[in-house]
Amino acid sequence: MKEPDGHANPSAAAGELIRFEKVTKRFGDHTVLDRLDFSVEAGRHVTLIGPSGSGKTTILRLLMTLDKPDEGTITVGGQRLFPAAEKQVREIRKNIGMVFQQFNLFPNMKVLRNITEAPVAVLGLSADEAEQRARELLELVGLSDHLDKYPSQLSGGQQQRVAIARALAMRPQVLLLDEVTSALDPELVAGVLDVLRDIARTTDITMLTVTHEMGFARDISDQILMFDSGHVVESGTAEKIFGSPEHARTREFLSAVL
Ligand code: ADP
Repeated sequence: MKEPDGHANPSAAAGELIRFEKVTKRFGDHTVLDRLDFSVEAGRHVTLIGPSGSGKTTILRLLMTLDKPDEGTITVGGQRLFPAAEKQVREIRKNIGMVFQQFNLFPNMKVLRNITEAPVAVLGLSADEAEQRARELLELVGLSDHLDKYPSQLSGGQQQRVAIARALAMRPQVLLLDEVTSALDPELVAGVLDVLRDIARTTDITMLTVTHEMGFARDISDQILMFDSGHVVESGTAEKIFGSPEHARTREFLSAVL
């Protein structure tokens, strides 16, 4: 793989899709990520756990280019995100979908249009192709009967399932999930997590998930990264992290949330 300046990138191992190298992010004098290193292989389902404020959402926002690191490099598919030409960032961004805690649907558009908008505008799909894709995705998330409604006519759980369909409509290689059930009433959480379990089981999309739902994390994750104060304190399979955590911070965190 090539760096934007044309040099081969020796650190891009086969299969590696995302790499953070010595990434530092500060807000004012608060260092949120401190020379963070980690990488994610293509097709893996990786879940970030750890106390609030440990920098997990910041990592997703950096990948989505919603924030910039102060130092270090982030590569996606061997291509650097920062610094990078606008055009290259747009190309990388097409490959990354994100679902937020607060759904962020377009309130003035019906469900179908929420999903077709970006594939038409960004990928250049025809209206018919985009609609066909949207209908398939609405079936996947169990909302085929709601395509003609506005977001405000749906429950929070339904809105979040539309947001998942909208992200998938771009056929991204990477799906970023940022505490997607945190804003939902408890009875609506399971429906959203079931949809995500299905997606994890039936697609080869790379998933990077921030969640406080430990049962869900255990079910979907190939790898868990335990964060504390902007560092990965421990990583491993779900079985290892939940079954025999090695680090005291992991044990403390899990005993507080489980
Ligand atoms: P987590 O997802 O692990 O809860 P975050 O990545 O959301 O952690 O936040 C890490 C720290 O960065 C928190 O202390 C938070 O207050 C701070 N932070 C995040 N975004 C901003 C911002 N835009 N301005 C100032 N501080 C921020």
